[in-house]
Amino acid sequence: MIYCNPWQDLLDKISDAGGFVNAHAHFDRAYTIDDKNLQDVVYDHLYHKWLYVDNYKERATLNDFCQNIQTALINQKQMGTTACLSFIDVDSIVGLEAIRAASLAKKYAESIGIDFKVATQTLKGIINPYERIYLDMALDTGVVDIIGSLPGVDKGFEGSHLDIIFELAKRYDKRVHVHVDQLNIATERETEMLARKTMQHGWEGKVTAVHSISLAAHDAIYRHEVYKMSRDAGLSFITCPTAWIDSRRSEIYSPTHNAITPVDEMVGQDLIVAIGSDNIHDIYKPYSTGDMQVELKFLLEATHIYDHEILIKIATENGLKVIGSYDDRNRVTGKNKD
Ligand SMILES: [Zn+2]
Repeated sequence: MIYCNPWQDLLDKISDAGGFVNAHAHFDRAYTIDDKNLQDVVYDHLYHKWLYVDNYKERATLNDFCQNIQTALINQKQMGTTACLSFIDVDSIVGLEAIRAASLAKKYAESIGIDFKVATQTLKGIINPYERIYLDMALDTGVVDIIGSLPGVDKGFEGSHLDIIFELAKRYDKRVHVHVDQLNIATERETEMLARKTMQHGWEGKVTAVHSISLAAHDAIYRHEVYKMSRDAGLSFITCPTAWIDSRRSEIYSPTHNAITPVDEMVGQDLIVAIGSDNIHDIYKPYSTGDMQVELKFLLEATHIYDHEILIKIATENGLKVIGSYDDRNRVTGKNKD
């Protein structure tokens, strides 16, 4: 019998395929965990953490944001990632300071051979016209590659939030990435809403759902309806395995599942799935290093996907597709001539 090491074999193939693509992160707030917030805030609910990060953003300088993003890029490179997308905060607290830092980081990323894309993170929502202005200004800088969205922060107005996002996407001709279904509960139906809104606005094939964890908490009939709807909408997905595997125990009954995007079902439904690290060493994920090997290992263990062909696509090609780099590269190499 000859021993084989499927994990090493998989890593070698990913390296040969061009390296990992980290399709979802928040580099501007990376490395901001400290002794104090490690004691208390890390145990709070997601919605409280959204407010807490204001403290950091109020104090942080352009230099701080530059340092966070550049450190993340250096570490990503060292860990075998060759392309990545980071959401960057844009709101009345931080203004455009983090976006300016991302602009400088783009030049730095190019110098170390990383394909670095930027999306907007609007933690204060966009229904309030005062907050919306910052998103408009960020898009006018030309730094933003993808319009990011977090409908959950505009509670009760999620549909209107998405309408604004899609109008902007059409005006600026941008792809859209939307945080949906993060809480691992069947009362959330945001993936379905996103698929419907994508078709309503005619933006099929240009929209990516980030997380879609709660989809796994619904029954099989509903899940498969949403998969079909997602196929019709050309909706793609990004799973961030360690981001939600820490979902808290509750007494709410649901089909047995791990707290992860149901990737095992999605790949069988011809849906494109990419992978991301999400937060790195901050109050959301204090222990996360952003190592894509760890993310991929969690994904395959939590979903029982052992097929190398599927895993390599998730780790490389699909990431390039959802961050908008796949078409660019093929245009350059002429692969899309037909
Ligand atoms: Zn995120």
